[in-house]
This record gives sequence, C-alpha cells and structure tokens, in this order.
Amino acid sequence: MTSDTLSEIQARIAKAATIADRRPADVTLIAVSKTHPAEAIEPLLRAGHRVFAENRVAETAAKWPALREAYPGVELHLIGQLQSNKAAEAVALFDAIHVVDRPSLVAALAKAMDAADRHPACFVQVNIGDEPQKGGCAIADLPALLEASRDAGLPIAGLMCLPPADTEAAPYFALLAKLARDAGLEGLSMGMSDDFETAVTLGATHVRIGSALFGARA
Ligand SMILES: *Cc1c(COP(=O)(O)O)cnc(C)c1O
Repeated sequence: MTSDTLSEIQARIAKAATIADRRPADVTLIAVSKTHPAEAIEPLLRAGHRVFAENRVAETAAKWPALREAYPGVELHLIGQLQSNKAAEAVALFDAIHVVDRPSLVAALAKAMDAADRHPACFVQVNIGDEPQKGGCAIADLPALLEASRDAGLPIAGLMCLPPADTEAAPYFALLAKLARDAGLEGLSMGMSDDFETAVTLGATHVRIGSALFGARA
C-alpha cells in the first residue's frame, strides 16, 4: 500500500459522490485489513487513515491493541459473522458492528453493551440476494429484527449487504437503499473493491475496501 493508492481510492469515492450530487464527506472509507499483518496496515495509519474493518474477533484482539496505542483515534468495524458467545468481546473491541442478523445476536449484543456501558453503532446485515450460504437476515424478517433491536435498545445505524458474486451489484444496492429508506435508517454499508463507485452513486455511507488498498489476500 502506498499513500498514492489511498488518495486514488479517496478521489474515486469523491468523484462518484459528486456525480450523484452527494457530498464526499458523507461517505466513510473503511479499509478492510483482515488477514494483513500490522506492517501492511501501518502505512495507511501513517498516511492518516483511521477507519478499519476486521472479520474476526481473535485476529483483531491480537493485532489491534498495539496499533491503537501507537496511532490514537482508530475506529474499528466488525464485518465478519459473529457468534453470540463472542458478543462481549466484540463490544469491547469494535466501534461498529455490521453483522447483526438474528434475534439471538441482538439480545446478546444488547446485554453486552449494557454490561460494558459501551454502545458501538450497529448495522443489520441483510441477505440481499437470498443466498442460503450467506449470513444476513432475510428481507422478510427485517422489520421484526429492527423492532427487536429497538426494543432491546440496540443502536441501529443502518443496513449492510454483500451482494451475490459475479452479477451486477447495482440492483441489490438499490434494494438495500430502499429497505433503509422504508425503515427510516440513514446508514448504508455497501460496496467493496470491485463495485464501490456504484454503491456510492446509490447512496452508500460506508464502503468496505480491502484488496484495492492492500492487494490480494493470501
Ligand atoms: C473481505 C470483505 C470486504 C472487502 O473485500 P474486497 O473485495 O477485498 O474489497 C468487504 N466486506 C466484507 C463483508 C468482507 O468480508
């Protein structure tokens, strides 16, 4: 990663936002650092970037405390499936959780947040392509899950999706944006290395970019 790569991605986000008559500052670039060691992450931190995502609690606990110490102001987002028995650890480590997808996890997170008096922003992950192998709440179950979250006092910032691979992502992004609008939610976590500009034109507030910043994962 060079700081040129970071600037180039930021410029592409800004251009897509401007085309859609949106403000570039309303799109947060989340650098997905999963699998990459601290040495690969530090150039981004040195360039001033502070928002990162990981997909595993254990890897985050091993990698990030020292980096956080060295670079104040880091914001960490969880983007990988979360088991309810790891909810307390996730609440302690992360500043945002993008993978809320079932009532048992809503309950576990709400309990962990109350106990820790720490309230990371949550996104409900929607299984937008109705794919059996993927995490995320079914579209039909979304209203009930949002209601359960409200009842439990879980702070829901928005919706997140991972569209089906190898197909045009735009219709799925547009559908997620509509679901968020219908639910009165502002946050839209959508768009990755191959499709973030499309996601930004369709309203993404958070894009999750790994390989375009760090190169391919092993
Ligand atoms: C790995 C991952 C990303 C980043 O993917 P790239 O294609 O490397 O940008 C984004 N979102 C989720 C949920 C991921 O697991």
